[in-house]
Amino acid sequence: MAENPVALIDLTTQRDRIRSRIDATIAKVLAHGRFIMGPEIEELEARLCAFTGARHCISCSSGTDALALHLMARGVGPGDAVFVPDFTFVSTAEVVIWLGATPYFVDVLPDSFNIDLTSLEVGIEDARKRGLHPKGVIPVDLFGQPVDYRTLLPLAERHGLFVLSDAAQSFGASLDGQPVGRFGEATATSFYPSKPLGCYGDGGALFTDDDDLADTIRSLRIHGQGTSQYDNIRVGMNGRMDTLQAAILLAKMDVFSEELAARSEVATRYEESLHDVVQTPRLTEGAVSAWAQYTLVLEQRDKVRAACQAAGVATAVYYPIPLSRQKAYANCPCVPGGVPVAERLSETVLSLPMHPYLDQAAQERVAAAVRKGVA
Ligand SMILES: *Cc1c(COP(=O)(O)O)cnc(C)c1O
Repeated sequence: MAENPVALIDLTTQRDRIRSRIDATIAKVLAHGRFIMGPEIEELEARLCAFTGARHCISCSSGTDALALHLMARGVGPGDAVFVPDFTFVSTAEVVIWLGATPYFVDVLPDSFNIDLTSLEVGIEDARKRGLHPKGVIPVDLFGQPVDYRTLLPLAERHGLFVLSDAAQSFGASLDGQPVGRFGEATATSFYPSKPLGCYGDGGALFTDDDDLADTIRSLRIHGQGTSQYDNIRVGMNGRMDTLQAAILLAKMDVFSEELAARSEVATRYEESLHDVVQTPRLTEGAVSAWAQYTLVLEQRDKVRAACQAAGVATAVYYPIPLSRQKAYANCPCVPGGVPVAERLSETVLSLPMHPYLDQAAQERVAAAVRKGVA
C-alpha cells in the first residue's frame, strides 16, 4: 500500500481552510475594478506596518524588485561595493549588478547559515584595496532566521554601510521580541507563493522608518512619478503590486500568526525526533524563525535524499551552488581566503517538508526516512 507523498510545501490545505475569505476578497476586487493601486493596496500596507511596527510599508511587484527599489533610491552605482552572503538566492546579488555596482561575496556561518561578520570585515578592507567604495550590505535572514543584527548593525555603522535586510524568507520572524521589518534602514520581503506569507503570484514589500527614503521608493515604484501620473522626476520602474494580490494577502494575514506558531511546532517536533542523529537548525539566542525552510546539514546527503525519496518524502537542496561559483557571477569579487563554509553547505544541506499544516503522522514518516538514511 503506497502512502501519500509528503510534499515540501502544501498550499492546498491552507487554501481550503480560507477559501471563503479568498473568494470573497477576490469578488470584491472584481466588483470595484481598481486592479492597479486599488484600496486593498493601502489597506495591506497599513496592516503590514501594524504587524512589523515599521513606519512605512511600500508594497511592490516582487521581493527582487523590493531589493532593487531600495538600491535605486540609494543611488547605488558603478564603483560601489555592496556586500552579500555567498549562500543565498540569486536575487540578493542580481539587483546589485542591475545598478552597475559590484556585489562582493562574503562567507556565512556554519550554524545559522547567515552572514559571517569576520568575513564581512575582511571583505570591506579588501574592497577598499581594490578601489571600490564600500556602500552597503544586504544581510539575508536565511531559511527564516533573522541575522544577528545586534552585532551586524554597529559593524555596518562603523564602516558607513547602509543595511538593506533581505527578509524574503523571514517575514514574521523576530529578534529579541522585535519583528523583522525594522532592522537596518530598510527591509525587503517577498510574497512569492511558497514564502511564509505568500500571495497567488509575484509580490513583495519594503519597510523603512525613513520618511524621505519611503517617498523616493513610492515614486520609483510608479515610473519615478512626481506630483501627478505624467510628471516624471526620476527614472523608475513598473514596480507595483496587483490589487488582487493585496486582497489575497489580506485574507492570509488573518491566519498568519497562527501559521507561524504552527511552523514553530513543526520545527520543535523535528528537533525532538532528529537532533540525536543529524545537525538540526541552530537558532541564535533571542531569535524566532519564520521557518521558511527546515534545513539539515548532512555528511551523507545523497543517502538521506535517497531514503526520503524511497519513502515518498520530498526534499530540496537550497542552495546547490554558492553564488560566487555561478557562471553569471564568477567575475565578482569574493573575500580573500574564499568562502569555505558556503561551499561546504552547498554540498551538505538538505531541506525537509515544512509548512503549517504538516501533521504529526507525516512528520514521523519524514523523521523515520532521515534516520534510515543516516543509519
Ligand atoms: C525569494 C527570495 C528573493 C526574491 O523574491 P521574489 O519575490 O521571488 O522576487 C530574494 N531573496 C531571497 C533570500 C529569497 O529567498
